[in-house]
Amino acid sequence: MSLSQPKVGFVSLGCPKALVDSERILTQLRVEGYDIVPTYDDADVVVVNTCGFIDSAVAESLDAIGEALAENGKVIVTGCLGKRADVIREAHPGVLSISGPQDYGTVMNAVHAALPPKHDPFLDLVPPQGIKLTPKHYAYLKISEGCNHRCSFCIIPSMRGDLVSRPVDEVLREAEKLVMGGVKELLVISQDTSAYGVDMKYAEREWRGKSYQTRMKALCEGLSELGVWQRLHYVYPYPHVDDIIPLMAEGKLLPYLDIPFQHASPRILKLMKRPGAVDKTLERIQRWREICPDITIRSTFIVGFPGETEDEFEQLLDFIDQAELDRVGAFAYSPVEGAKANDLPDAVPEDVKQERLARFMELQAEISTAKLERKVGTVQRVLVDSIDGELAIGRSMADAPEIDGLVQIQDGESAGLKPGQFVDVHIMGSDEHDLFGLVEA
Ligand code: SF4
Repeated sequence: MSLSQPKVGFVSLGCPKALVDSERILTQLRVEGYDIVPTYDDADVVVVNTCGFIDSAVAESLDAIGEALAENGKVIVTGCLGKRADVIREAHPGVLSISGPQDYGTVMNAVHAALPPKHDPFLDLVPPQGIKLTPKHYAYLKISEGCNHRCSFCIIPSMRGDLVSRPVDEVLREAEKLVMGGVKELLVISQDTSAYGVDMKYAEREWRGKSYQTRMKALCEGLSELGVWQRLHYVYPYPHVDDIIPLMAEGKLLPYLDIPFQHASPRILKLMKRPGAVDKTLERIQRWREICPDITIRSTFIVGFPGETEDEFEQLLDFIDQAELDRVGAFAYSPVEGAKANDLPDAVPEDVKQERLARFMELQAEISTAKLERKVGTVQRVLVDSIDGELAIGRSMADAPEIDGLVQIQDGESAGLKPGQFVDVHIMGSDEHDLFGLVEA
C-alpha cells in the first residue's frame, strides 16, 4: 500500500536570503508530509519564491509565475516581488496568494487552503498543534522517511515504506541555511533516527571541506559545528545509541534523548516485535547518567497491549519507577487498521486499559514532580519562545517544544527578553510539568 502525499512544486529565484526562505518553507512542507516534486505536471500546486531587486529580476520572476500558471494553474507567490503585489496581480491575476519575504505563515496558509495536508495523528512526526509554522527560532529537520522495523502495533512501514535516508551533506546544508535564517534550535526527526544512513551503507559525504558519514553520530558532530541547540527525536533503542551520549557530555548535542521504549515486559515487547532486554535497558540508562548526569530522557509507552496481564503491567510500573524517566507519554493501546497486533488474542477490556493508563500517569506525575523539584535553586539556560504579559515563556535544554514542559520567566518582560533569545534563569519553583524562575543577575 502506498500513501499518495499531496505534492508541491517549488521554484526558487533570487539571492541567498531568498534561498534561506525557500529552505525554510521546503522544510516545513516536508515536515507536514508534502512531497516536493520537480515538475509542474506532478505538482498539485506550485510555490514561486520571487526576486524583485532589479528590473531583470522582476521580469524573470513574472516569467516564472506565468510559466507556472500556464503549466500547472495553481500558483502561490512569495518573496521580494511579493511586496509589489499590484505588479504581480496586473500581470497574472490568477495567482492564489501573494506574500512578501519571510512571510512563511502566509505561504503555508495558502498551501493548506489549496492542498490540505493529510494529517494523520498516528503517522505524523509532529504533534497536531505543530501543524502551524514553527516560530523562526526553531525548526524541524527531517533526516529520513520510512522505517525498517515491523513493530506489530504500527502501520508506518506499510504506508511509508522502508527507511530512505537523506544524504548527510544535504541535511547539513539545510541545517546551515536554517541557522543562517535565524534558527537557534534544530529538532531532528524521522521515523527511526538511530537507523539513519543504514540504507545508504553510511555513505560518506563532504560538508565544509570535511568528510561525514551518513550516520546519526556523524550527523550530530556536523550539526554541532553550527553552534545551536540540536535535539534528537524518535531514537530507537539500538546499542549504538550509547555512542552519542559522550557527545552530550561534551556539550556538542543537547543532553536530551527521546527514545520510545513502549513497554518493559520482555514478553509484551516480543509481541510488539521490539528489543526486550529490560535489565539491560535499566543498566544502560544508569550508564548514560554516569556519563552525562544532566541527560533528560523522554520515552513513550503503550499500556493495555493485547495479552498484557496485571503482572506485566506492574512490571512496567516498576520499570518507570526505577528508570525515573524525565518525560513520559503514554497511550492506551488502540487497534490501528492493518496492524498485525490486531490479530493477537486476549485484548484488554477498555475499562482496564483506562484504569492502567490512569495508574501509570499518576506514578509518572509523582516522578516528574520530584525530578523538577530537584531543579529548584539551579540556574538553567533557557530559550525564550514568547512573551505573555510580564512573563517570558521559554524552554530549558530538558524541554522539547510542544511536547514537554515550559520555563516561566516571571520578570521576562521587564528584563526586555525577546523570542529566540537565550537567557540564564534562576529556578525558584516547580510543579508537575513546568519550572518558574527569574532572570539570573
Ligand atoms: S520503529 Fe517506529 S515507525 Fe518503525 S515500525 Fe516500529 S513504531 Fe513503527
